Amino acid sequence: MSSLTIHDLRKSFGAVEVLKDINLEARPGEFIALVGPSGCGKSTLLAMIAGLESVSSGEIRIDGRLVNDVAPRDRDIAMVFQSYALYPTMTVKENMAFGMESRGVPKADQEKAIARVASLLQIEPLLRRKPAQLSGGQRQRVAMGRALVRDPKLFLFDEPLSNLDAKLRVEMRTEIKKLHHRVAKTTIYVTHDQIEAMTLASRIAVMHKGVLQQFDEPQVIYERPANIFVAGFMGSPS
Ligand code: ADP
Ligand code: MG
Repeated sequence: MSSLTIHDLRKSFGAVEVLKDINLEARPGEFIALVGPSGCGKSTLLAMIAGLESVSSGEIRIDGRLVNDVAPRDRDIAMVFQSYALYPTMTVKENMAFGMESRGVPKADQEKAIARVASLLQIEPLLRRKPAQLSGGQRQRVAMGRALVRDPKLFLFDEPLSNLDAKLRVEMRTEIKKLHHRVAKTTIYVTHDQIEAMTLASRIAVMHKGVLQQFDEPQVIYERPANIFVAGFMGSPS
């Protein structure tokens, strides 16, 4: 069964249709990159998967369950944004515990989850710090940690590295790749960076003006782009 299935999904804001008949699926453990120019509808699609935007028509299924009308907190997903959205007055550890606390996870289990994820991301030395005492890369790692402690079914990223400088972006890209190998969590990763998509994803969904142009493995997208837009955007030779 697919971890995520999107069937004929549409979204309009008033009279403006921003997503048109999107069909996508992610297999368990798969890393999917969603790419396209600014304004093409990437964040809207991700927000709909997360339950932060309503569905105009079509279906979203997580592990086979129709979630169109399921509240965000009951979807078993975790999301990492480009703005880290860490709570500034809380320590790193408290930031990581917050979601579990509000869901009533017992303290001992919280501790275990935090220890596991902190070790995975190598952020143990940061647990007592406040967000202001962290570098950009460290904050992003903590934001990922906070998402991972929930052990979600689906991991959603919306341009998580776009606020980082070029060198750090490349480092974090490698870290995300390693992390994905270790946790094998189904991931939908929004980026406008073609290289990020090519290096991270098992399949890439290329969007333009609310329409899914191609959904294929990186090599296929590169060697056999479906149309001139995909060829141009993904930098293929044709
Ligand atoms: P991307 O993430 O690919 O840059 P978005 O999903 O943010 O694109 O936006 C897609 C389109 O939907 C844009 O034209 C944007 O202006 C429009 N849009 C997004 N959110 C809203 C909203 N809440 N109300 C009206 N239009 C919106
Ligand atoms: Mg966006």
